[in-house]
Amino acid sequence: MAGKIITHAQYNTNRVEEYYKHIVNKEEFILPRRYQKPKRIGIGAQGTVCSAYDLSRNNEKVAIKKLTKAFSKNHDAKRAYREIFLMKRMKHPSIINLLNLFTPCQTIDNFNHIYVTMECLDANLNQLKSMLLDHPRIQFIGYQMLSAVNYLHKCGVAHRDLKPSNIVINSHCVIKLLDFGLARSMLDLDHKPNPILTPYVVTRYYRAPEIILSIPYGVEVDLWSVGCILAELITKHPLMPGENLVDQWDKVCDIVGTPPLKFFDKVLAEDVKCYCLHRPRKAAINFNEKFPDQLFGGDPGIEHEHNCHLARHIISKLLIIDPADRISVEEALQHEYFSFFFDPSSLTPDYTGPFPEARFETGGTIEDWKYLIWEEIHSFVPED
Ligand code: AMP
Repeated sequence: MAGKIITHAQYNTNRVEEYYKHIVNKEEFILPRRYQKPKRIGIGAQGTVCSAYDLSRNNEKVAIKKLTKAFSKNHDAKRAYREIFLMKRMKHPSIINLLNLFTPCQTIDNFNHIYVTMECLDANLNQLKSMLLDHPRIQFIGYQMLSAVNYLHKCGVAHRDLKPSNIVINSHCVIKLLDFGLARSMLDLDHKPNPILTPYVVTRYYRAPEIILSIPYGVEVDLWSVGCILAELITKHPLMPGENLVDQWDKVCDIVGTPPLKFFDKVLAEDVKCYCLHRPRKAAINFNEKFPDQLFGGDPGIEHEHNCHLARHIISKLLIIDPADRISVEEALQHEYFSFFFDPSSLTPDYTGPFPEARFETGGTIEDWKYLIWEEIHSFVPED
């Protein structure tokens, strides 16, 4: 229930709005009157997400994320700025659409809360665990993930944190990628590839070998994560649940086998290289045994068997240790497993970017990020 009006604050470009206080699972949400009946639907690294009904959009259900710790640490502030900057500019059917951006804070001096309104889907991919998925569903989910990744990469951006909880889905199997807090522009200001990036990104289980081994990396890291997610959709368990970074490397080799010795020439850190070279060599597991036909939903038959074979094949191509040999996003979109959904226009999406003006690629203080976020909020023009 909406409580009393607690403040009036500037809202988007020129309007002033009344804001109402709601308590959602003991947490305060201060929202413009248009948002009614907030209910918690998730908690992420940056804050709480609730659903609400939007009176200005015909009572449509929307998702509102409150960024709670945005200004306590520099990296949180930068992460909040990245998320807002990119969400404002990304437009793709498989990327969550930003509907509104606001703060009840009246001045930048007391600015500490950021609210982000998005379209609301039904669940995240982790919440599909009890469902046996058939080939059309796995294909459709996989194809949409790859289309979104292709769009991001064309914009010069790597997501870097793809995982089941960052992908939401509705009852028609439409998916959208969330959470651009760790996304990174892969171009430096001269528009040349900029492969030397922070190693500690991507939730461990979905982390590509080149990140684990501190090898300079590029957009291919997202394709490894897509491979891990597809595998998890089938088995319902993380494919490589490493307990720490070292164990993560061991889990990778358990599944796809130790790479050829030549690969380790790419490892620049001598201690890491030495560790890897002294581990016992392992052979890849048999994917027919790891992903047997019975794990896929649908009626048995020749077509089913063929699709199971194709599913295992695309996963094996996504999970190639050496990023230079890993399947590219364009090749993956054209893989036979996705042929039913393939639309040639997905290879060349309309895109904006690269974003040379993206200030998150440079340093800054918390106050700098705060100012940039304040500007992004107050220049935002919602669709309605
Ligand atoms: P995030 O903070 O973006 O990682 O979101 C945390 C969780 O909230 C996600 O794993 C989803 O379960 C849920 N969530 C976030 N955004 C949405 C949305 N737009 N629609 C439905 N659920 C969402």
